[in-house]
Amino acid sequence: MLENKNNTKTDLASLGEFGLIEHLTNTVKLQHKSTIKGIGDDAAVLKLKHQTIVTTDLLVEGVHFDLGYVPLKHLGYKAVMVNLSDVYAMNGMAKQITVSIAVSNRFPLEAIEELYVGIHLACKAYNIDLIGGDTTSSTTGLLISITAIGEVKKEDVVYRNGAKPSDLLVVTGDLGGAYLGLQVLEREKQVFKANPNAQPELDKYTYLVERQLKPEARKDIIILLKALEVKPTAMIDISDGLSSEILHICKQSKVGCDLYEAKIPLSQEVISTCEEFNMNSTTVALSGGEDYELLFTIAQSDYDKIKGNPNLTVIGHITAKKDGAYLVTRANQKIELTAQGWNGLS
Ligand code: ADP
Ligand code: MG
Repeated sequence: MLENKNNTKTDLASLGEFGLIEHLTNTVKLQHKSTIKGIGDDAAVLKLKHQTIVTTDLLVEGVHFDLGYVPLKHLGYKAVMVNLSDVYAMNGMAKQITVSIAVSNRFPLEAIEELYVGIHLACKAYNIDLIGGDTTSSTTGLLISITAIGEVKKEDVVYRNGAKPSDLLVVTGDLGGAYLGLQVLEREKQVFKANPNAQPELDKYTYLVERQLKPEARKDIIILLKALEVKPTAMIDISDGLSSEILHICKQSKVGCDLYEAKIPLSQEVISTCEEFNMNSTTVALSGGEDYELLFTIAQSDYDKIKGNPNLTVIGHITAKKDGAYLVTRANQKIELTAQGWNGLS
């Protein structure tokens, strides 16, 4: 069994399924008028005003997360963020989630409580109603599946397929941090395996570890774009790395692009840690995933509205499909983008 801080361990079986659900969800307070009925009946009932956005993610222990270094509270928070990020990437507002879990009896109640602390925290921070889910047992590890529901006015929805030649390519925040955070945590895990008394050396990597363990979905950007009266022509969230997401937009919009290496936003921590680990920071930004920033395209005529905003960086522009999707390097070389990063450099 896993241990928690106080070393108390309550067998899940002692509560029973209904006792467990009640225990995990009795603090839920519904916030949205659109939530007519939440947890407690055969199904929830919603009454949304606009078009409905629905998205699901399934997270599997050992595949998507490693409880060796991911605290359950952070896992709960991140599992919610991953879903909210997809709703925001449609230019919509997330309103409700359902949470389904499969748990093996290796987990005590206290571990599942921690998971739900993170889930409730995320719901509170992003004004989300937890409206249901399912609870079952697993013979192996932990599985979490979250479904997020959001809404968007018909005229506001943004797909991946609307980018046009000459549009500007814009990214939020900075990139590569979550991937490097994972590298730091993996390295500490190996050190700990070799010497369980070793103190983790994470202080100087706080920003990177936070990017990996506690990502924030960019709800603020959807609100900002609305205030600036900018509607992106195409949008996607960055879960798999900049390169792969740009290619999704290019493929679905039937366009090409020029992405400028020198424009890719990198934090100081990413730059210094790449030097220390002998990694190429452009590769890390292009191929490292899980930053949960937004990538979008806007008409050139909207440039003045976003110019100078510290959250937004123009990293390139859209071209005709026949021109292909390219990275323009600092040395002004053009290299074709691939889902793994780019061809020809390492
Ligand atoms: P059913 O047998 O109809 O599937 P359950 O007993 O599984 O109903 O669930 C009872 C209520 O608790 C339902 O409203 C369901 O959505 C909710 N629920 C079940 N599991 C969870 C969970 N892990 N998190 C949040 N709500 C849950
Ligand atoms: Mg059920």
